[in-house]
Amino acid sequence: MGSVGRKLLISGKGRCNITNTIAATKDFVSHFGKNGRFLYQALNSFSTSDTVAFFNKRGMATKIDKDFKIFPTSDMAEEVLSVLTRYLKENSVDIRQGVIIKNINTENNKIVSISTAHGDIKCKAVILATGGKSYPKTGSTGDGYIYAKKTRSQYHPAETRTRPCHCKRKRHKKNYKGSAPEMPSSLYILTVKKIAEDKNDAVFTENGLSGPAIYNLTRKIDITAPDMELAIDFRPDIEQHLLDKELAEYINDNSRKKIKKTCLKLSFSRSC
Ligand SMILES: Cc1cc2nc3c(=O)[nH]c(=O)nc-3n(C[C@H](O)[C@H](O)[C@H](O)COP(=O)(O)OP(=O)(O)OC[C@H]3O[C@@H](n4cnc5c(N)ncnc54)[C@H](O)[C@@H]3O)c2cc1C
Repeated sequence: MGSVGRKLLISGKGRCNITNTIAATKDFVSHFGKNGRFLYQALNSFSTSDTVAFFNKRGMATKIDKDFKIFPTSDMAEEVLSVLTRYLKENSVDIRQGVIIKNINTENNKIVSISTAHGDIKCKAVILATGGKSYPKTGSTGDGYIYAKKTRSQYHPAETRTRPCHCKRKRHKKNYKGSAPEMPSSLYILTVKKIAEDKNDAVFTENGLSGPAIYNLTRKIDITAPDMELAIDFRPDIEQHLLDKELAEYINDNSRKKIKKTCLKLSFSRSC
């Protein structure tokens, strides 16, 4: 892409939550199911407290938000990116923007060079850090999987763990825009059985829903299952019978308004 860290800049809604307060690696890993074992090596080499120390040492103050998430005190992802790019420069890393890797070339099973639209680069080894498949407009289109498959004998097909939720019915497009902070989202299959729920931020997008709550939910479900239904509680602060009363009173006072508009008004009056 034309600039570095595009995904990083949109992470945490532009605030970039850099790590969390879970100090024990075992506790951290337990949140990822059995695949979490993969994380031990990385986290044992560079723990959550190492991450905080890394940024603090380079002038970025951090704060704990919502019990366990750690953000820059400035709430600006730009500050995180600035620390990281400065670190790369200090270590003489040559950053080439807008250079797309086309191929990794091998000879006798050894890497010899990479091909780019701007010519070949000779090398003996390659670290593939091309990101997952989520949010392709930030540059991570899943190319890395193709190169990994081509060049490595040990290749595990990628399973996209963080995926947005595409809605078949696009009614939300007209009605909601932007984020719905901290709405408990409950995911139901065919409305009968609740299989997961989450209380985090959700974001309405062009095609459906995204954001941490949705990623947490879709991580827990079997994506091969047929149509699913997602239910969002816009008014978690109020009990059902009180909401019924509030709705009846509102309709009484605003009898000329359409029911759809009334529901939208009531659902967003507190949560946004
Ligand atoms: C909306 C959203 C919110 C998020 N919020 C948070 C958060 O608050 N905290 C958190 O920890 N994580 C968050 N994440 C996840 C986090 O952003 C990612 O885990 C992280 O960016 C992954 O880093 P990466 O370097 O592996 O990949 P990426 O950040 O995707 O970077 C991959 C890079 O490789 C480049 N690339 C890809 N293919 C090629 C090619 N063929 N040639 C050359 N270059 C290529 C891309 O242009 C890109 O620069 C969020 C993600 C999203 C989408």
